[in-house]
Amino acid sequence: MGLVVNAALAIRGVARTFDGKPPTVALLPTTLDVATNDFITILGPSGCGKSTLLRIVAGLDTPSAGDVLLDGQPVQGPGADRGMVFQSYTLFPWLTVHENICFGLREKGMPAAQQREIAARFIAEVGLTGFESHHPRQLSGGMQQRVALARALANDPKILLLDEPFGALDNQTRALMQELLLSIWELHRKTVLFVTHDIDEAIFMANRCAVFSARPGRIKTELAIDLPYPRHYTVKTTPRFSELKAQVTEDIRAESLKTAQMNLP
Ligand code: ADP
Repeated sequence: MGLVVNAALAIRGVARTFDGKPPTVALLPTTLDVATNDFITILGPSGCGKSTLLRIVAGLDTPSAGDVLLDGQPVQGPGADRGMVFQSYTLFPWLTVHENICFGLREKGMPAAQQREIAARFIAEVGLTGFESHHPRQLSGGMQQRVALARALANDPKILLLDEPFGALDNQTRALMQELLLSIWELHRKTVLFVTHDIDEAIFMANRCAVFSARPGRIKTELAIDLPYPRHYTVKTTPRFSELKAQVTEDIRAESLKTAQMNLP
């Protein structure tokens, strides 16, 4: 896939080596252009540098080489224009659902009434109306991730960066969370960069999937996911989904075998 003109996010030759004896080459020079409204999944075996790339885009880590440009401006640190959701629960345990979601809005100095209105809207969108006064410990894992998603969306970021956000959930909850995220994306058309090692997840939501090679990682293939939106979960049983899955499975398996240093037929 060629370079996207007017990319919302341009990742240009971004590489990362961690110091040490010996140094760890986590990411080989990687280039990816993300257009506004793209839902891109970054798929690869564990340890291939997916999180490293996402952390660099988030401004939480600095590349050893290359640049990340957001609307043409180099990323120099974290910013409200990028909303993050990680796998592990990152809510403030001492704050309620409502307070967690308002956190960034309060930091910005937004008037309380406006904070309440925005929080109520996103709480409703993630299906947690009635749980505003609960604390994270009173919620299931899936509900906590819904709060994390609402908190990220409430700040109205240009880009959502999601790092295995559903990785700790059971399969049924995970499938529902994928549908929820997809419906939210179809509504708001945020630009999304979503890291996963799950093939079904990567295909189900994305319009493009970047498949990583084994460590040290780089993008091995970029695949357009030409399934129509809006997507219903039943798309997973269509012949086209199976074709895409077979193609990606082959790619990922080859990389996983390299990582595991296994020699299977
Ligand atoms: P993935 O997200 O694909 O599982 P990561 O980006 O987390 O992979 O890690 C890629 C490689 O970089 C791994 O070998 C990991 O051990 C290494 N790595 C990640 N962060 C650090 C760090 N802070 N210091 C040293 N090595 C790291």
